Amino acid sequence: MTRFCKRCLYSEKHSLNLIFDDEGICSGCRVHEEKDILDWNKKESELRALLKQYRSKNGKNYDCIIPVSGARDSYYIVYLIKNKFKMNPLLVNYNKHYNTDIGIRNLANLRNKFDCDIFTKTVNPDTVKRITRQTLTCLGSLYWHCIAGETVFPVQTAVNHKIPLIIWGAHQGIDQVGMYSHNDKVEMTRKYRKEHDLMGYEAEDLIGEMENLTNDHLKPYYYPEDYYIQKIGVRGIYLNNYIRWDSRIQHEEMIKKYEYETNEATRSFDSYNDVDSFIYLDLHDYIKDLKHGYTKVVDHACREIRLGHITRNNGIDLINYYQSKKPKYSKLFMEWLGIDKNTLNFILDEIRNPKIWERNNKWQWVKKLRLVPDYDKNKKNKNFKKFIITKKYKSSDTNKKYILVGKGERKL
Ligand SMILES: [Zn+2]
Repeated sequence: MTRFCKRCLYSEKHSLNLIFDDEGICSGCRVHEEKDILDWNKKESELRALLKQYRSKNGKNYDCIIPVSGARDSYYIVYLIKNKFKMNPLLVNYNKHYNTDIGIRNLANLRNKFDCDIFTKTVNPDTVKRITRQTLTCLGSLYWHCIAGETVFPVQTAVNHKIPLIIWGAHQGIDQVGMYSHNDKVEMTRKYRKEHDLMGYEAEDLIGEMENLTNDHLKPYYYPEDYYIQKIGVRGIYLNNYIRWDSRIQHEEMIKKYEYETNEATRSFDSYNDVDSFIYLDLHDYIKDLKHGYTKVVDHACREIRLGHITRNNGIDLINYYQSKKPKYSKLFMEWLGIDKNTLNFILDEIRNPKIWERNNKWQWVKKLRLVPDYDKNKKNKNFKKFIITKKYKSSDTNKKYILVGKGERKL
């Protein structure tokens, strides 16, 4: 029997060091309790004091770096740092290549509304495709380049432009699984990036292999050497250690104040966090199910249960509904990567975890291990308040393909 947390919906089979206590509550839920106990006003003053130390002395350089995208918490982080705490940030954006038109529009609107300078790094498509073919086959990941790029470009910029402070949103090790307490004030490390974000593979580890990747291909993803990081004093802080983090409420504030755009996702009810990518809550999430037997909708449901926005039964309903959805945009991905359906299916079958999946007598894949707890019929169900879908704009860019570079104009 698989054991589930009595409060949220995570099982002991979670891939990220989840621990259960004697009462059957998971470490993620225990650390989450801190959100309602900690003195957040005091934490905010600590943040103010920290930021003060990093203001450019002569006003000639930026005060800090904020990694942004056309989605996930970007508006809220920039809003806090620039408008509330009056810092002068340099925004940095790694081009993930799987861009939707909404993501492009959100990024354009972010630049305009907050009046910030931005650096974008676009690695050439040939290199990105080679790396993706490699990581998809060997690591079962089509997102490796995105995560590698998003986590390294801010550090490279910090070193090259001598801007030591990088400001991130929520640390997933705290917010999801309770690997650390908010009081630990954990900061960005190369080790965590390699082990958890990059599945143990840094860029250098991909040299050679089937795609004949070279130093030249992988250079854009190299982490700056320790010597330079120490010389500049680069550090990366996470705002959820200082601000009580509630991604739903924060996004809704940004929709109202700054016209952040949202859209339906294929495989989750969370229509806020990942609107910039054709792949993330689509084929990438489907692959997560093949590998681990649970998907992002489980993370989203656990987060919402802990924040009191939904009940445990609501969460189970949502997981059952969204986990059965087939990816919508696989064809787009195959066209982009230059592979056919048989090749993709062959790769997906190789990725499938035999501890979780088996063939039934009709030769269809079925889960032999069900990582969703049973519905509690004795508990009353609350109405699920849906996430907001903003009005639809027409775009000057096409929404039928990944947009490598777009203007992001909004037309009604
Ligand atoms: Zn839990």
